[in-house]
Amino acid sequence: MAKGIQAIRGMHDVLPERSPLWQFLERHVAAVLAAYGYREIRMPILEMTELFRRSIGEVTDIVEKEMYTFDDRNGDSLTLRPEGTAGCVRAAMEHGLLHNQVQRLWYRGPMFRHERPQKGRYRQFHQIGVETFGMPGPDIDAELILMTARIWQVMGLPDLELQLNSLGTPQERAAYRDELVAYLDAHHDQLDEDSRRRLHSNPLRILDSKNPQMRDLLQAAPSLMSRLGEGSKGHLDRVRAILDKAGVVYVMNPRLVRGLDYYSLTVFEWVSDRLGAQGTVCAGGRYDGLVEQLGGRSIPAVGFAMGLERLVALLEESSPEAGAAAIDVYLVLLGDAAAQEGLILAEELRTARPDLRILSNCGGGGTKAQFKRADRSGARYALVMGDDELAHGTVALKALRSDEPQLKVGRDQLGELLQARFAN
Ligand code: ATP
Ligand code: MG
Repeated sequence: MAKGIQAIRGMHDVLPERSPLWQFLERHVAAVLAAYGYREIRMPILEMTELFRRSIGEVTDIVEKEMYTFDDRNGDSLTLRPEGTAGCVRAAMEHGLLHNQVQRLWYRGPMFRHERPQKGRYRQFHQIGVETFGMPGPDIDAELILMTARIWQVMGLPDLELQLNSLGTPQERAAYRDELVAYLDAHHDQLDEDSRRRLHSNPLRILDSKNPQMRDLLQAAPSLMSRLGEGSKGHLDRVRAILDKAGVVYVMNPRLVRGLDYYSLTVFEWVSDRLGAQGTVCAGGRYDGLVEQLGGRSIPAVGFAMGLERLVALLEESSPEAGAAAIDVYLVLLGDAAAQEGLILAEELRTARPDLRILSNCGGGGTKAQFKRADRSGARYALVMGDDELAHGTVALKALRSDEPQLKVGRDQLGELLQARFAN
């Protein structure tokens, strides 16, 4: 399409060649989440802009410059969701899911951020997110991490590194923040533009800088770990003890942070070194302050979100055929009468063998053209029906991927014949 309308920059079509990988990913993640007793919640893609301003926070990259915000016809300011936590908390509060009960929830879907598109970073991207409410202890933090580890394992995703940190309590963090700002201020000349901008609005986020020129400076920065009190240390130690016992390997990364005040204690990321600069495939943490910040009671919460584009990219490398399923049988239908009766035959087969993938030739075509389509479909067998077969109530079975001899059988024997060839 030379001059036609094209997709919006940073927003991508998933073409049929790649969708099996997406389905493979989504199927396996959903199965593991179900096995841990997590329940799916579905929220709208649009929310009131105010929700994100109040939850994500004014001084974040997302709210400052990445949101797709517009006024609708009533003059309400709406925003395409840049992430799922805010909407999930909003929905849980709105429907009373947080009253005297614990919740283990998950959601999936597109998120929208106006970032500079590059490999692994898009303007429409997809997440599967998990949020839990009402559980204050290290047990649930560990459960979430064990669950993510299992997800990678069942999909055969190798080599992901788990990084762990603790952000302490808001009070511990506030004290640390002052110390960090003093340190960075003393090295003001070494800060890049982004970091200077964040120095007073969101200094913790500077630790997360991806600029290699800032590495040494940040490496030598004071560590939040030394500021943690007994309670925070104990929480972290208990998460670590569970991971150790379960054999989940991790590294402590003191520079792993979330910038916002409502985060506390556990934060973690799963990182791959195969994706270039955009290596984080899953990020999570505890956000005990958020529900209250949105006007609810104080409810402990912890969750994570995984980026599906990055996971699909990893899967494509490690198991490119994952999820792909070829056609089993292609119906070659020669002549008008067979073209009609073929659809009836196909229905009979589908009733007998709902597990088989059966493609009927539609749109006519000669023998050669139809066999070419059959071959391209990847089918293992062609079932051929023409005037002659129709008259005798038979069908010809022709192997397309082996030199098995061609057979002609009665239509009533077909089920049995396929049974032998497609044993479950
Ligand atoms: P980054 O530091 O890479 O910008 P983030 O902190 O903004 O990440 P989160 O908001 O924690 O990311 O989102 C969780 C996950 O969603 C990320 O780890 C990543 O896998 C994925 N993700 C975030 N933004 C994008 C994007 N623009 N394109 C593709 N995936 C994304
Ligand atoms: Mg980001």
